[in-house]
Amino acid sequence: MGDGMVFIDGEYVAPQDAKISIFDNGFVKSDVVYDVTSTWKGQFFRLDDHMDRFLRSCAGVHMTCPYGADEIKRILAECVERGGVGEAAYVGFVPNLRDTDVTFIAYAVPYAWIVPPEVQEKGIDIIVAKTRRIPDECVEARYKNHHWGDLTRARIEALDAGAHNAVLCTPDGYLAEGPGFNIFFVKDGALHTPARNMLEGITRRTVHDLADELGAPHHDGDYRPDDLREADEAFICSTAGGIMPVVKVDDRVLSNGAPGPMSAKLRELYWKKREAGWHGTPVGDLLGQRAVA
Ligand code: PLP
Repeated sequence: MGDGMVFIDGEYVAPQDAKISIFDNGFVKSDVVYDVTSTWKGQFFRLDDHMDRFLRSCAGVHMTCPYGADEIKRILAECVERGGVGEAAYVGFVPNLRDTDVTFIAYAVPYAWIVPPEVQEKGIDIIVAKTRRIPDECVEARYKNHHWGDLTRARIEALDAGAHNAVLCTPDGYLAEGPGFNIFFVKDGALHTPARNMLEGITRRTVHDLADELGAPHHDGDYRPDDLREADEAFICSTAGGIMPVVKVDDRVLSNGAPGPMSAKLRELYWKKREAGWHGTPVGDLLGQRAVA
C-alpha cells in the first residue's frame, strides 16, 4: 500500500508536496465544495453518484468546475493508481475557483475510518451536542462544503464528555447529522433518518437500498433527540467507515450495549456487497485497462 497521490495545478505530486497558497479562497474563506468517494479491492463505489453530487455542489454555490465528470474520474483513477492505494482509498476532489485563480485538487490517500473496524464491532457511544448545526438557510448542507466550525465544535464536546462522537441538531431542535456522517435509528423494525439540514450522504442512500433489499421500511423525517435516545438501535454512516453501530446516546444504552441486529446486518451486507463489486467501477477500467498498482 502506497501513501497516495495528489493532483494539483495540473500535476501529480506526493501528498507531502501538495501545497496551496495562503491566499487561496478555500483556505481563507472556506469557499470550497468537495466530495469524497472511496475504493475497496480496486473498485470505486458509486462513483457516478459522487460525481453527480459534486457537480450539484459546484452549481449550488455558483462554481464552474474546470473539468467534466469523465475527466475527473480519470484523474481520480490516476491518483489511486499512482498513489498505490487501489486496495482501499479515500478519494477526494475539491474545486475552489472564485477568482481567475482556479484551484482544483484531487487526491487518493489510504482509506480513512471515522471508527476503526475493531471499534465498530463493539459499537460507539455518542452525545447529542449542545452546538447546533448551521442551518441550511445559512450554509446549504446538501452542497458538500468545508464549513466545519460547528461540526468540529461538536466533536470537541464529545471528546470532552468522553464519548466517541456527536450528533448535532438544527437550531429548532431536530436531529441533523454529525462530523462526517449521517445518523439513523431503528424503532420497531423501521429505519429513520433526518430529512433535512444534512448532506444527502451516498452511504445514507446505500442504507436505504439495503433496507429495501431486506424488506425493512424506512422513513426520512423530523426527529427529536429523544427519538434517538428511545430507539431500539442506531448507527452512523459515511464513506469513511461504512455503517457504524451506536450503542449509547448520552446516558442511554441502546440494544443492551452491543450493535443491534439491524445495524449489524446492514454493516455486514454493505461490505459483502462492496467486495462483490456492487455499484463498483474498477479503477483499471478508467485507466484503459491498465493494471492497478
Ligand atoms: N454528513 C457530512 C457533514 C459529511 O461530511 C459526510 C461525509 O463526509 C456525510 C454526512 C456522509 O456522506 P457520505 O455517505 O456521502 O460519505
